[in-house]
Amino acid sequence: MPKKLSKLSTEFPLQEYDYIFCGVGASASLVLLQLHNHNLLVNKHILLIDPDNKRKKDKTFCFWAEEEEAISIDLRNIISHKWQNVWLAEGKIESLKPLEYNHIASIDLYNEVHNLIEQYGWEKITDSIDQIKTDKICPFIEINGIIFRAKYIFDSRPPDYRPSFIKDIHIFQSFVGWLIKTETPISNPDAFRFMDFQIDQQNSTQFIYVLPFSENTALVEVTRFGEHIIEEDTCKKILEEYIETIFGKYAILDVETGCIPMSNAAIDKSNLPGVISLGARNYQIKPSTGYAFKNMYYQSRKIVEAIKNNQALDFVNKSDLEIKKGRFAFYDNLLLDILKNNPKKGKPIFEALLAKTKIKLVLTFLDEKTNLKHDIFIFSQLPWAIFIKTILKRWFQKNWFRPLMLLLIAIILLLLGNHTMPQKYVSNGLILGGMISVGIPHGAVDHLLESGRWDRRVTPLFIVKYLFLAACVLLLWFANSSIALSFFLIYSSWHFGQADGKRWGFSRGLSMFWGSFILFFILGTHIQETNQILQIIDTYKLSIECPLWLLVPWFGVALFKKNVSFILTIIWLLLSAYLPLIISFSLYFIGQHSITGWYDIKKYLNMSNRLIWLHSLPFHSAAWIFLSLFLLNYTSTSAIQEYDLWAVFFIFISSISFPHVIYMNYVYPTKKKMK
Ligand SMILES: Cc1cc2nc3c(=O)[nH]c(=O)nc-3n(C[C@H](O)[C@H](O)[C@H](O)COP(=O)(O)OP(=O)(O)OC[C@H]3O[C@@H](n4cnc5c(N)ncnc54)[C@H](O)[C@@H]3O)c2cc1C
Repeated sequence: MPKKLSKLSTEFPLQEYDYIFCGVGASASLVLLQLHNHNLLVNKHILLIDPDNKRKKDKTFCFWAEEEEAISIDLRNIISHKWQNVWLAEGKIESLKPLEYNHIASIDLYNEVHNLIEQYGWEKITDSIDQIKTDKICPFIEINGIIFRAKYIFDSRPPDYRPSFIKDIHIFQSFVGWLIKTETPISNPDAFRFMDFQIDQQNSTQFIYVLPFSENTALVEVTRFGEHIIEEDTCKKILEEYIETIFGKYAILDVETGCIPMSNAAIDKSNLPGVISLGARNYQIKPSTGYAFKNMYYQSRKIVEAIKNNQALDFVNKSDLEIKKGRFAFYDNLLLDILKNNPKKGKPIFEALLAKTKIKLVLTFLDEKTNLKHDIFIFSQLPWAIFIKTILKRWFQKNWFRPLMLLLIAIILLLLGNHTMPQKYVSNGLILGGMISVGIPHGAVDHLLESGRWDRRVTPLFIVKYLFLAACVLLLWFANSSIALSFFLIYSSWHFGQADGKRWGFSRGLSMFWGSFILFFILGTHIQETNQILQIIDTYKLSIECPLWLLVPWFGVALFKKNVSFILTIIWLLLSAYLPLIISFSLYFIGQHSITGWYDIKKYLNMSNRLIWLHSLPFHSAAWIFLSLFLLNYTSTSAIQEYDLWAVFFIFISSISFPHVIYMNYVYPTKKKMK
């Protein structure tokens, strides 16, 4: 029994332990076995808490390792089967040597822990824990008014993932397996079938595993990598057909189902001092394969090593940043992205991998132990076009990618020479393309923002309200252009600052300040051109030129925040001061503001780019028609100059952007930073 401590004053009864295991599944069992093997459990007070009594086989743990490897030696008592060969496509059998593929039935692992419970007389509570807390002394758990403290609480409760928009992928490896008894002997019981893709893919990536246990028994499992968990009915058909074709008549002895998260998202865990996360909760599942067992075993060894050396254990807790680093995390992300967004490509990728690369190298690669040369060889054998496409797509989603592109565009336009024909052609082409693809469309889905739903029909009331707001601004231009201009500058500052500020974690005040600065910087560094346009629409003149050094404090903020996207933005803004006003403004309006707004709308509506663009089409087209009418009306009354056109365009944009600014408040309702 654990000893009761009275010296700590608390309003609750108190029990203290050396270690509490919150969750006693695979990872906790492996830690307990390691501690026991190293004689570190003698005289230790241990409490185990799990809502499940772990009395039945709920999983099959497979892993590959060399015969003399620590994991094979340590767990030899519970390894119930080993295969030295793998059975690949077209009946090809390949040796795994020096590796072996090992199988452990989960109940055998749990039984080892049950033996330890008996041997040491530990206490076990069958309960589910919602929260682990900590105070100045140590971490603790409260159950029914009793406080359970421990030097360390090992937490292996199933993780909650926090997928953030776009960048994180969260899919599932789901499977249904039948343990079967065949009538005719299995031709190669020494070889297991790794991944057989000769089944209907059903718009996912699906394959069959076969683990023969004897000449007449085998586990045949259909596995899906995908967004949707495979249903038992679907598996039934696939399994029946597959088993009959390969093995003939059979009887089902047992059924195993399961689902493993395949995710590169951060796990919602607090990493409190003294609370050590284990297993799936500590990123031990390899996102692209779902294998975790070997990782968990090696993690248990690290824990034991640290305890032996009296080292603190908090180093075991992995942070979300840590797991996103390194080239293997990069490969995992790519594969997850392909499996989610191009599921049909999974089959050709895995088939090419298994056909062209020796299985030992594949397994070493999955263990993240290959060198770069091996990796290049492996990827060169795969259908690489989809990888390149996915890399480009993911780069495009990175915060730093867009400002980097804007920087490159600014450099190219400067190199083409100001006011030269090449610069005009390239910049006009970019502006037109940008306005059609995102500039106008990002403001043409406001009808969806009010309800936050893409399937809502646009109502006549909405159109009337929208046109009314735009018309008010237009009338203001005719009534008093100075007030209209000031009004436009205020709501544009608010709107521009809002989108950037959310992304960079600015307060509302700082966002507004940034928005007004951007406008002042772009207009004030092109004072002559600005005043030329202003003279056409008003008598108002911008009298202060914006000095370039005003960017310096912002650059300092960007450096202080270590925000690469912000740093790059400041650099291209600086360069844009040397480009004509229209180009400078368009770089910001299309390249920065509209695309940022587009992604925020995409997140808010949870829609694809294509769908948003299609939904924007009616209002988008109407905007172009209105603009053409506006320009036609103007050109019929005046001798047209380039700046006149821009002035008309400017008034038009200011009118239609006012209702858009109002509707975007549905997308940016809180102070929360957008991910
Ligand atoms: C069906 C299946 C088969 C798998 N096969 C393999 C394989 O072959 N090879 C491989 O490498 N990996 C495999 N994995 C992946 C991984 O090895 C397992 O998921 C493994 O069980 C993870 O260990 P864990 O300790 O993190 O979680 P678990 O083993 O699931 O243990 C978590 C424990 O926490 C308990 N618990 C839940 N909620 C609470 C709560 N609120 N409070 C307290 N306790 C709680 C649960 O009852 C459970 O006992 C498989 C996973 C599944 C699901």
